[in-house]
Amino acid sequence: MTIRSVLQAMIHPHTATNDLGAPPAAAVGVRHTLGGSLQLRHVDAGSCNGCELEIASAFGPAYDAERFGARLVASPRHADALVVTGPVTKNMVGPLKKTFEAMPEPRMVIAVGDCARDCGVFKGGYGVAGAVADIVPVDMQVPGCPPRPEVIIQALRGLTGR
Ligand code: SF4
Repeated sequence: MTIRSVLQAMIHPHTATNDLGAPPAAAVGVRHTLGGSLQLRHVDAGSCNGCELEIASAFGPAYDAERFGARLVASPRHADALVVTGPVTKNMVGPLKKTFEAMPEPRMVIAVGDCARDCGVFKGGYGVAGAVADIVPVDMQVPGCPPRPEVIIQALRGLTGR
């Protein structure tokens, strides 16, 4: 995302999101349980921070993911879903498992970015323990390196139905 596109989106807020259309079909059968509200805890398991920038943009003023019912929270105990970015480094295996176990059930895991899906460019790295699905069960994957904010928002809308 360029500075120019951010400025354009702030001046003309609809330019960034007016083509999103209806929410996509639910990727998993959890819409009824969520009731249109999705609380997310984010864990960076070893990302280059590219995915973090796009997540921050998705929740920023231009894209405003909160209007679709998705919200980032500070504690896994308040979260419906865990958003994980990056390959899982050896140092992050324990913290990722602990974060997942701290979440109330039913709980979901969303692997955001190609590194989270299959280790991406970091595959085979000496510090990499594996993809997210090698450590915790993954319910949804968001492809891209990094995924664009629109793609992240569409995935979340598939869960909230808004
Ligand atoms: S998917 Fe791309 S942007 Fe995201 S952590 Fe991996 S290398 Fe970085």
